[in-house]
Amino acid sequence: MPLPKQKHTKSRRNRRRSHLALKVLALAKCPKCGQAILPHRACKNCGTYQGREVIDVLKKLTKREQKKRRKELQEQEEQAKTEKPLSAEEMSKK
Ligand SMILES: [Zn+2]
Repeated sequence: MPLPKQKHTKSRRNRRRSHLALKVLALAKCPKCGQAILPHRACKNCGTYQGREVIDVLKKLTKREQKKRRKELQEQEEQAKTEKPLSAEEMSKK
């Protein structure tokens, strides 16, 4: 078993750990449904990327579930359209 030869000081330990903090995720907003998404990734909610549908999110669902989900997506889409994009002033406040 390898054993440390010398004790590392609290200072040295803390300096090493200074880079371990988690960073806040930079989330973008899906232009279609308005959900928070990771940039450069397809939206898991509606399955679109850059305006194209790349994932069929309804494929694995039963017909009844598909109908329900389609309705939900449509509502989200309409909500995202009615929300006004933030102006530069509002963005700086947040
Ligand atoms: Zn989406």
